[in-house]
Amino acid sequence: MHLKTLTMRGFKSFASATTLHLEPGITCVVGPNGSGKSNVVDALSWVMGEQGAKSLRGGNMADVIFAGTSTRAPLGRAEVSLTIDNTDGVLPIEYSEVTISRTLFRSGGSEYAINGNSCRLLDIQELLSDTGMGREMHVIVGQGRLDSVLQATPEDRRGFIEEAAGVLKHRRRKEKALRKLEAMSANVARVTDLATEIR
Ligand code: ATP
Repeated sequence: MHLKTLTMRGFKSFASATTLHLEPGITCVVGPNGSGKSNVVDALSWVMGEQGAKSLRGGNMADVIFAGTSTRAPLGRAEVSLTIDNTDGVLPIEYSEVTISRTLFRSGGSEYAINGNSCRLLDIQELLSDTGMGREMHVIVGQGRLDSVLQATPEDRRGFIEEAAGVLKHRRRKEKALRKLEAMSANVARVTDLATEIR
């Protein structure tokens, strides 16, 4: 599995559609200060489902949308697509090439797609969760991130390991199921009360 292309349009400083072709092996992005190198990394983590505006170095999520320059008007949406070579079948989907896309509209709506088909954020998170590219993004080590890993609490450190081992997905599913169960128990109690009152 390797990342093949990353296309950004309206994302941060990339107003026009820009595609980076990544070959197997090491890719270096070089450029002067402020030219958009970190924005490329932000685009990668954003398309893989990053939800924290701060992790993307912004105040709120709309900050990822091209905000305009003295010569160019702001845009109404940001779009990023990442194409992954899946000939070795690491991604649990029957396609040798998988493109995940994310779009955010300034009006607030957002869309996700896998190979052009609309999907939920959860579908993208689950698709990537066993690859080490999960939503906690431990594959992306940003500036200052090493310090936070070294200073993490034992619980947080356990979270990193669980994410890498693919356990986190099941823990989250369990938590979701428990929350549903709790809501269901409250409903059962309510129905029991009503039944007692009617009798
Ligand atoms: P350095 O080498 O200093 O770390 P860099 O190459 O990593 O710099 P980035 O931080 O990726 O640079 O890019 C910063 C540039 O992106 C700034 O010029 C900033 O104005 C621009 N930028 C960030 N968000 C937006 C946005 N929403 N709209 C337009 N431009 C943006």
